[in-house]
Amino acid sequence: MTKVLIAEDNAVNRELLRELLEARGYTVVEACDGEEALHMIEQTQPDILLLDIGMPVLDGFAVVRTLRENPRLATLPVLAVTAYAMQGDRGRILNLGFDGYLSKPINAVALGEEMERLLKKRDGRGAPSDQSHDSQASGKRRAAGTGK
Ligand code: MN
Repeated sequence: MTKVLIAEDNAVNRELLRELLEARGYTVVEACDGEEALHMIEQTQPDILLLDIGMPVLDGFAVVRTLRENPRLATLPVLAVTAYAMQGDRGRILNLGFDGYLSKPINAVALGEEMERLLKKRDGRGAPSDQSHDSQASGKRRAAGTGK
């Protein structure tokens, strides 16, 4: 069963996300701030992280930066969930290490689609056809295969 960690400081939003995800058959664990999110990732080993940007203690930017610096956690799919819906922020957010982006208020259909897209992408990581991620390793495999 696919486990989702919801990191979100607003209890109403957390509950809404939990209901939407459980209705789709996901197992849900929760964190109320960025520090707790990092702790819960270690404790519960989720398959995917729904990460609010504006949170106390550590915000979503700090959480994703910490994850990407950790070789064990660098490939954990992270979906940003944020009120930062301004034009231009999407590109910035994706450049910072998030795999996807949803703006509040959350659209249930978009949430489901993004979850599936990110989980598929994770399952496909390391495949020879995947050039967008892990390109260094792919290059090494190609080089080994051709003897160059
Ligand atoms: Mn928040």
